[in-house]
Amino acid sequence: MSYYKFKKLIVGNGTSIENKIMHVEDGKILEFLDSYDGDMIQADYIMPGLIDCHTHICFPPVADMMGAMEKMNDTDIVMHAVKNLEDILKGGVTYIRDVGGVNNIQLHLKKYLKDGSIKGPDMLCAGKIVTMTGGHGWTVGRECDGPDEVRKAVREQLKAGADLIKVISSGGVLTPGVDVNAYQFNVDELIAAREEAHKAGRKICTHCHSMQGVKNSILAGIDSVEHATILDQEAVDMAIDAGTYFVPTLSAVHFIIKHGEEGGIPKYAVDKSKSVFKKHQASFKLSYKSGVKIAMGTDVGTPFNKHASSSAFELELMVKAGMTEMDAILSATKNAAMLLGVDHTHGTLEAGKVADFLVLEEDPIKNIKTIQSPSVYKNGLKI
Ligand SMILES: [Zn+2]
Repeated sequence: MSYYKFKKLIVGNGTSIENKIMHVEDGKILEFLDSYDGDMIQADYIMPGLIDCHTHICFPPVADMMGAMEKMNDTDIVMHAVKNLEDILKGGVTYIRDVGGVNNIQLHLKKYLKDGSIKGPDMLCAGKIVTMTGGHGWTVGRECDGPDEVRKAVREQLKAGADLIKVISSGGVLTPGVDVNAYQFNVDELIAAREEAHKAGRKICTHCHSMQGVKNSILAGIDSVEHATILDQEAVDMAIDAGTYFVPTLSAVHFIIKHGEEGGIPKYAVDKSKSVFKKHQASFKLSYKSGVKIAMGTDVGTPFNKHASSSAFELELMVKAGMTEMDAILSATKNAAMLLGVDHTHGTLEAGKVADFLVLEEDPIKNIKTIQSPSVYKNGLKI
């Protein structure tokens, strides 16, 4: 058992507690005390471990990620994924939702995470991404067309052990030849996918940049829209009415534009990122201001979007785009835990919850960047 004496603890539900002692036992938070006579660990600022709702542990975050993956065999990918998982945890992320891997390697790695033979965060993962023929992500995804084929493709992922389903409802930045402004799966295909996921008690998320694609996804009852890049007030209002989460992944486009073609990123990806950057920022502001439920995700594994550091950096980007520090933290704690369906055990630091937390040098409400150099505790143990 351990006792952590803190100046301030961010609960993860939008509130904080000051000058108490957190009592941790058997990997869980037992209680908060006003005083304690025995040995205590001084931990000035504490917050929950981050939850990243959009990762790709199988992808190498190099300039030409798609080109690199063509040259990687399954063993190469496993070796990268194991390292990426360790890096994610060291970066302060204690739970991830992996939304698209390669040959279900991410699903197989769960077993080794659970038995402790590899280090990393807790993980929920999709199987192969489900996409239309030639749609975004087709090189690693399961292509299918029409509601019946989509049903079969989703059922295949559930059979393989997927914790959730990932579909594609618009073009994407990193697939050459597809337009980010175009929607992809039709509403009837999205409904079929959502029905199969929900029937099995799983959630479903969709990759989507295009405005029509976002609206189609909300109409179809998809649980979260990833990227949510091009929005108008109608799309935002629809999301609020339906309770749909947005996972903005500001890091993905940020790093592609920052490193550009000079950094070796293919021209098509840089051009597409530049074409949506301003709209994405405006959409993020509009959805935040209007009250859409926002959960933090990074898209780590895309060019220069590194597993070791991007999740904490995403919070800085969200604050730069107009979010308060407390709300940015909320998006990576309680909101993210609710989207993953793990909020009964994770996401906030309360009695009875799992002791996944970060000890920080400064108050993150005053300096969000302090989250970028955390001491990380998983199940009550320092990693
Ligand atoms: Zn992604």
